[in-house]
Amino acid sequence: MPRSALFAQFALHERLLKALDSLSFTEPTAVQAAAIPKALEGRDLRVTAQTGSGKTAAFVLPLLHRLLAEEKPKSGARALILLPTRELAQQTLKEVERFAQFTFIKGCLITGGEDFKVQGARLRKNPEIIIGTPGRLSEQFNAGNLPLGDVEVLVLDEADRMLDMGFAEDVLKLAGECPQARQTLLFSATAGSGLHEMVEKVLREPQVLQLNRVSELNEDVRQQIILADHVAHKEQLVHWLLGNEPYEKAIVFTNTRAQADRLTGRLIANGHKVFVLHGEKDQKERKLAIDRLKQGAVKILVATDVAARGLDVEGLDLVINFDMPRSGDEYVHRIGRTGRAGASGVAISLICHGDWNLMSSIERYLKLRFENRAIQGLKANYHGPKKLKASGKAAGTKKKKTDGKKTGAKPAAKRKPAARPKAAPSSVVSQDGMAPLKRKKPAAE
Ligand code: AMP
Repeated sequence: MPRSALFAQFALHERLLKALDSLSFTEPTAVQAAAIPKALEGRDLRVTAQTGSGKTAAFVLPLLHRLLAEEKPKSGARALILLPTRELAQQTLKEVERFAQFTFIKGCLITGGEDFKVQGARLRKNPEIIIGTPGRLSEQFNAGNLPLGDVEVLVLDEADRMLDMGFAEDVLKLAGECPQARQTLLFSATAGSGLHEMVEKVLREPQVLQLNRVSELNEDVRQQIILADHVAHKEQLVHWLLGNEPYEKAIVFTNTRAQADRLTGRLIANGHKVFVLHGEKDQKERKLAIDRLKQGAVKILVATDVAARGLDVEGLDLVINFDMPRSGDEYVHRIGRTGRAGASGVAISLICHGDWNLMSSIERYLKLRFENRAIQGLKANYHGPKKLKASGKAAGTKKKKTDGKKTGAKPAAKRKPAARPKAAPSSVVSQDGMAPLKRKKPAAE
């Protein structure tokens, strides 16, 4: 029996089943099981699914099946996939190539940071599938290099993030240039504000598939916090964790580029091999960082949110939040980097007094209790606020008005402070072996 027998239930083209077999994809993930049959029916879909849930295959497989079912060698591009970042676009092209390995279907990448003319030449070769970011695709369209009149399937992946990044206008324009009779598949990790308008304008009577509520995290990832006194203390903690935690690959998130650079400098000075990824890095540097991490030449990446969006690196099993993300949804996105496709992982957030309220509102939003952990020799003097303050406002998206109601969470002030478990010592006890870090004025946040 071929290993992909469970995928055969979807009646996918045999060349796709062969590819699935060669990739050892045995069982469809939940989003694949829900979305593939509906997409094969030709329906428009609006899917909310967790990052790392296997959603790329959920749209790529039915899309390829459609192109294979009816060959149209002389047409222009037949599928357009829009995504928010270059990295995600590159990863999606790789997935397309993996699934299309036994076919003649070609994908083409069009993102910013690359030579415009070279891209124009690439587009003139009539690739069946175009994958790219809305800004550059829009520019190519304006230059007359992007005929969209033959598009049969339009995919908007991470639609919520495309909105956050200010791509709404480009997305709507490009969608408007595709034929009305197309199929549109919209995927988002969250139901962020503003998505409603895009859904109304771009989708036609979509089937709505809600695979996870945003506040559901991968259960295979442990969620921990470690209290810290100040930025330099956090840097020592990161150094300790990277030197002592068992992990294959790690990513450390900061909220600012300046902090990412500073932390990277500190870690390198203390003997760690680290790459940094943020919006100021050019395309070459970003690609190098991701390739090295994927190959395992480097095990640690320091990154800001936007730069790490959609990153899919096998073996990423440790996420450290140097700064607490500013919303519950962003927390979910960050943690989605680890524990992908059923693997386990640990997420550790470092909490100074400035992070506390954010941390507790994220707890309420996600309906979880972070496991409180301390590192022997690096224990903080800070133990959390004496009195838990009422924040009144939950983390997550701006749409949080309903979250309190949904979760039934009590305002923080009404909870007993004792409800938070006391700091449990780490199972690994060690002294900090790092040379004391001089405290500099923290970079502007
Ligand atoms: P995605 O959420 O699409 O970024 O997928 C996350 C990772 O899971 C990627 O490396 C996929 O190749 C992998 N993956 C997706 N679906 C399956 C599956 N059914 N079986 C095994 N791995 C999968």
